[in-house]
Amino acid sequence: MELIEVRNLEKIYQNGSVKTPALRGVSFSIKEGEFVGVMGPSGSGKSTLLHILGFLDTPTKGDYFFEGKRMEDFSEEQLAYIRNKKMGFVFQNFNLLPRTNVLENVKLPLFYSGVKESLMEKMAREAIEKVGISYRINHYPSQLSGGERQKVAIARAIVQNPLVIFADEPTGNLDSKSGENIMGILSSLNKEGHTILLVTHETWIAQYAE
Ligand code: ADP
Repeated sequence: MELIEVRNLEKIYQNGSVKTPALRGVSFSIKEGEFVGVMGPSGSGKSTLLHILGFLDTPTKGDYFFEGKRMEDFSEEQLAYIRNKKMGFVFQNFNLLPRTNVLENVKLPLFYSGVKESLMEKMAREAIEKVGISYRINHYPSQLSGGERQKVAIARAIVQNPLVIFADEPTGNLDSKSGENIMGILSSLNKEGHTILLVTHETWIAQYAE
């Protein structure tokens, strides 16, 4: 079965009388386990697409199916559940909480999902271990390099073993060495079975995708 399918997706932003078309009839599907790259220059609608796929926005027209079910047919509760449990998000700017250490940042999604307190720490430590940042577990984001911050963000994204990871320019703020490192982590997560949708405008980054 397709994990994600979109048909004739359109998004038109309307500000007063000004209409900005961002997506004009996009159709594609992604199977479980795929590593998909979405490429295009700035302004081509990549973030708009990712927002819709992550349930943060709705299309103006067209259909979005997640695990075979139309987005409109999920309740608000179901959308929130899927977002929290089945999707992981990695952004260019890391989006870590500044006054919170590595362990607490990674635990964050678990507070929204009713995981038992005793289990939270174990799950967070495992995710932190997996991305190789255990040696910084008590550090704060400001005490970490860009590459290390992105590892923490990936640990947070995978702490509940999501089906799909949405990565929006994950190496955009990193030097090429750290970028390679982050792409290596995403590749091995894909080999373990996570579906990945990667947005990038850089050819060498897109080459990690299938
Ligand atoms: P990308 O991520 O590829 O840079 P975006 O999805 O951010 O592209 O933007 C696609 C187009 O939609 C751009 O022309 C942008 O200016 C426009 N756009 C994005 N968000 C809004 C908004 N909230 N209101 C109006 N126009 C927008």
